[in-house]
Amino acid sequence: MEKCIICKKAQDTGIHLYTSFICAGCEQEIIQTDSDDPKYKYYVEQMRVIKETKIVT
Ligand SMILES: [Zn+2]
Repeated sequence: MEKCIICKKAQDTGIHLYTSFICAGCEQEIIQTDSDDPKYKYYVEQMRVIKETKIVT
């Protein structure tokens, strides 16, 4: 089980982005969330952290 970076819960299904993990539920949420939705901004923020981590590594 890995910890999802969006919902912070341990999940067994999902996708890996670099060294981070997004669960299947959050992946669907991101896909379905409109870019005008404040939640979308949160998701983008979380994923930006992944990219920054990648650059540092
Ligand atoms: Zn999640």
